[in-house]
Amino acid sequence: MPTSSNVVEASLPNYYRSLAPFRARFAQGNPILIYHKLGPRPRRVRLKGLYVGANLFAAQLGELQAAGFGNGSLQHSAGPFQPGKIVISFDDGYVNVLRQAVAPLAAAGFKAIQFLPANFLGRQNEWDVAHGEAPEAIMDAAQVREWLAAGHDLGSHSLTHPFLTQVPLEQAREEIFASKKKLEDLFGRPIEHFCYPHGDWNEPVRDFVREAGYRTACTTVAGVNDASTSPFALKRFTVRYRSRNWKGLKAWLAERWAARSR
Ligand SMILES: [Zn+2]
Repeated sequence: MPTSSNVVEASLPNYYRSLAPFRARFAQGNPILIYHKLGPRPRRVRLKGLYVGANLFAAQLGELQAAGFGNGSLQHSAGPFQPGKIVISFDDGYVNVLRQAVAPLAAAGFKAIQFLPANFLGRQNEWDVAHGEAPEAIMDAAQVREWLAAGHDLGSHSLTHPFLTQVPLEQAREEIFASKKKLEDLFGRPIEHFCYPHGDWNEPVRDFVREAGYRTACTTVAGVNDASTSPFALKRFTVRYRSRNWKGLKAWLAERWAARSR
């Protein structure tokens, strides 16, 4: 049986682009946004929507700021309810985020968290490239320090970005424990938040995350969080640039319609 929040979720666009369709939903709990890549999109990219232009990103922050949203904390994402708070998260640690996000985040007074695949610092998104995705540079340690110096936070996104339920348990454990230690040793700060690569998790994987000493873990399930949400299965709304195809156009029209009829 669908819960009432599932019903609300079903009427929302399947990606976040602007606040209007989400305003009522965001008022019901603690929302988290996920971004991946910012800035101009290179040629031959497969998942085009995961590149959000820098202007759109700045516009989205401006809209959140104008609506009175400020920095939420992952620690409190599963309750108690923090009205007017939102968490901005970035997955994979791309250099383009460091280059494009720091100034608009500062201008809007937001702090964000980057989830890093610890073995890929200074390398590329090799897990995606293996499946035909365009390469994109991941921050090296010096660039991560720039990100931290701007006042932002870090979390672990495993060592090598595997599907954690599809590798042997011992490897899943290592990905979760060793990435925490590696990032803590490199950057001299506690790493308290985990993000499941590909949003892939099950109970043993979640238990490793808890045992390793993380305080939260993020999924890619859409929704806002409240006191009924496990801190180890936090929901997030994916921010996507609108794809220019028929399905994208239909979603856009539905989004406009929902915004107008509010
Ligand atoms: Zn990822």
